[in-house]
This record gives sequence, structure tokens and C-alpha cells, in this order.
Amino acid sequence: MPFCKSCKKEFYYLRTSSGKLNPVDIDSLSQSHISLLIAKMEVMFDQKIHTSHFITCPEAKKFRKPKQKTALPVYLPDLSAEGRGIVGKFITLGQSKVK
Ligand SMILES: [Zn+2]
Repeated sequence: MPFCKSCKKEFYYLRTSSGKLNPVDIDSLSQSHISLLIAKMEVMFDQKIHTSHFITCPEAKKFRKPKQKTALPVYLPDLSAEGRGIVGKFITLGQSKVK
């Protein structure tokens, strides 16, 4: 059973509808779900029932990376101004919408 490296609490990974694995607190899992997981079966993450350890972990701030630091700036050249030097602009993906 995996456990949180920060607070040492045990959790199980459940797959979300988007295919990602989400660490879920054992407290929010029913006994039947735990039995399935022990038998190496997959239980789908259900927001209504399951509590993500990312929310309950007292150390959650440590593994939630701020977006500003992880997103890389992307250079958008302004093609209409070709030949006039660098007139494009830098945008940061995940923060501004690119059209
Ligand atoms: Zn934790």
C-alpha cells in the first residue's frame, strides 16, 4: 500500500475518468473497494465518495507546484511586423489563452 512521503498516511491510487491516478484517503474508501484494490483490481475515482489525499494532506502545499514556475514562456512572433525586429510577445501557457 503506498503512503504519503510527507505525512506518512496510507492511500490508494484510483484512476480518474481522465486516466490519471489520484491518491485517495483510505478513510473515504469502502471496505468493498479496498478488497478490490488489494486484489489488484481498479476502482474508478468518484468525486462524490472519494477524498483525494491532495486535499487532506497537511503537507499538500509541498507537492502542489505553483503554475507560474512550471509553465514555460512561449514566444509568439508577430508575423505582420516582419523585418522590424523582434516585436512578438512572450506568453505563458496555462495562464493566457492562445487563439
Ligand atoms: Zn500526505
